[in-house]
Amino acid sequence: MEIDHYPPATNEGWLHFLPEGWHGIFRQLLDELEFSRPGVRVKQAKEKFGGMRVYLSHETTRDEQSMLLEAEDRSYHTCQTCGEEGRLCVDPTSGTLSTLCSTHDHGFETYRPDLPPGHSIRLREVIDPAMLLGQVQRVFDKIVDRWELSDEQKAGLLPPSAPDQEKLDRISVVYRIWKALNRLLPRPNSDLWVKAANTAPLFAGGCAIDLMAGGRLDDLLKVAVYLEAETV
Ligand SMILES: [Zn+2]
Repeated sequence: MEIDHYPPATNEGWLHFLPEGWHGIFRQLLDELEFSRPGVRVKQAKEKFGGMRVYLSHETTRDEQSMLLEAEDRSYHTCQTCGEEGRLCVDPTSGTLSTLCSTHDHGFETYRPDLPPGHSIRLREVIDPAMLLGQVQRVFDKIVDRWELSDEQKAGLLPPSAPDQEKLDRISVVYRIWKALNRLLPRPNSDLWVKAANTAPLFAGGCAIDLMAGGRLDDLLKVAVYLEAETV
């Protein structure tokens, strides 16, 4: 199991890290970026809080910044599953945000229904990290219960002193790991994996939780990417 495709070698390679419904937006964005700066390099593209985020490897000009923001805004109005018109939705049990159309929003509720449809403000700015954190903290608690982690391991995954935004990032990666494990392994193995002996080079002879709870968000992300590569 290798993670040598992360980061992808080409800008198009980032398509694999984006939901299919946004591929058209991302491709168009790449065309615009390439037109204004041939050889432009994407550093990262991902879904976050229900919207598409794209970062460039080099200093971003004002023009490029507005292209990135416009594409992000479009993603918040485009179903990430099918590419039809969508709106930001929340999964009431997990707090996960997704942009979905009325065909693909089963089990979701509209997030902030008080926002007028088609508003042009950036949704990122109306998402309150503290409110979201309360919602997703429950998900984190459930996952670490299932993994039967010690308090020290929990604090390594989610340092109590970390800023809200970082906590949200960390929980979202923990959730990705949990989701990938549940796709790869039957229970109870999926719950036992993080503490089981592991021969993969990534873990340097230890078990996954040693790396995951070491305190570095980057290490946590490596584990998520490693597992997700196995699910495709
Ligand atoms: Zn849809």
